[in-house]
Amino acid sequence: MNTTMRVVGGFLAVLGLLIPISSPAQTNVYPEKQSVLDWLSQPETVAKFGRISDAVWSYAELGLQEHKSSALLIQTLEEAGFKVEKGLAGMPTCFVATYGSGQPVIGILVEYDALPMLSQKGRVPKADPVVAGAPGHGCGHNLMASAATAAAIAVKEAMDKHKFAGTIKLFGSPAEEILVSRPYMVRAGLFEGVDAVINNHAGSGFQTSYGVAGSAMISVTFTFRGKTAHSGGSPWGGRSALDAVEIMNVAANYLREHLHYSTRMHYVIPDGGEAPNVVPDRAQVWYFVRSSDADLLSVYERVVNCAKGAAIATGTELAETRVLAAAHQSHHNKALTELAMKNITLVGMPEWSEEDHEFARALQKELGAKETGMPTKVGSIGKPATVFVGGASSDHGDVTLVTPTATIRFPGIATGARGHHWSTVASGYGSQAWKGANAGAKAMATTAIDLFTRPTVLAAIRKEFNEYSKTHPYKSFLPADAQPPLEFYDKLMNQYRPAMEAFYLDHK
Ligand SMILES: [Zn+2]
Repeated sequence: MNTTMRVVGGFLAVLGLLIPISSPAQTNVYPEKQSVLDWLSQPETVAKFGRISDAVWSYAELGLQEHKSSALLIQTLEEAGFKVEKGLAGMPTCFVATYGSGQPVIGILVEYDALPMLSQKGRVPKADPVVAGAPGHGCGHNLMASAATAAAIAVKEAMDKHKFAGTIKLFGSPAEEILVSRPYMVRAGLFEGVDAVINNHAGSGFQTSYGVAGSAMISVTFTFRGKTAHSGGSPWGGRSALDAVEIMNVAANYLREHLHYSTRMHYVIPDGGEAPNVVPDRAQVWYFVRSSDADLLSVYERVVNCAKGAAIATGTELAETRVLAAAHQSHHNKALTELAMKNITLVGMPEWSEEDHEFARALQKELGAKETGMPTKVGSIGKPATVFVGGASSDHGDVTLVTPTATIRFPGIATGARGHHWSTVASGYGSQAWKGANAGAKAMATTAIDLFTRPTVLAAIRKEFNEYSKTHPYKSFLPADAQPPLEFYDKLMNQYRPAMEAFYLDHK
């Protein structure tokens, strides 16, 4: 073993398991970078942020309802010496935590919202809810909450120790699952003067990619108004708003045939009346319309026309068309992605325990997936797609068009676990989640350290971004009068929160 190769810490007892904590055995790690690796490898750091991940997992708060989750992160950041501005861009659970001063300004994004219907016990490899029907962390945002916060504080610790200049900002971004926060945060000017941004996502692999990815998206509700009547006695006196919703959906489903195959549209009916014997005078349908940046607005216009046509056909009124969120595709910076990949390789995959592998294999068996256990090798840079085939969306896309951005995908979730599914919730808790989030924090913090201390690296990233911006100027898809839908999940969260409170985990 050479002198720069070391193992810090020892073993950490959690959930009755022993977690080996090691910092990467690497050569040529300069002191500022070694500082963040050492700080994040301390057993008390791993445990503290592991508990934060588990606590946020247990809160499982839906978009714009993340009051406890954001408060825990804010408290952790304030205790570490960050200055935190709260309630930004019109959202009570949006915050920006800042440390340091001057240039460069490096941002890290942090998410913490959960998904409806996915409540599930942690590390239980079969569907088994904590509270039946309640929300759950089906996309690993609790790991991301913990990892990004730990990364920002690790950078702060290195700043204090090595006295390098610059500002680290952690962008508390609510409601990613409904793509709400970042377009409003960009509109509020929160990313002005930020030199580069590190985004992150939990999953099973440890890798990153550049180029244009995902779908641009508009989230919109259409509310129809009709007239009530006795459905049996005098239906001719009524005008059914539900009929309008159904005809709109039929029109949109016929429309699909004549849209580019990369387009995705899906809807649910949040309000379809309350009883068959009263003609519904009010009904609402909620659409996600996804396409490329280039085609999104034209597809959206055709969906709006389906709504207008349905209103005419049913003699109802299209009372409200409300855009809740509108986000671009992501345009990741190549130079920043390559830098992030170097640091992912430096950090390496966590050392999973036999129990971690066993849990993963049991889950894989239950899902009918290959029983391979936890992944053991880091990935590589994903090449940009040459043909756009559609896909999911993330509202950090807007950030990628206003400042150079890369997304670090870090492990913790068992291979084969499905996104937005109970299996991801089961995986996102406990030992393997703690280790995955810790590895993610290390990759983010080391990348940030490079950006702070290697001006030529940052200059190359900025140059690429400035060139790209000439052909991809940013224009928000949000209508000028759009506002964050703060009340959107009030009812659902209020329905489940009292039962969930009994299972909240303490972060201490
Ligand atoms: Zn997600």
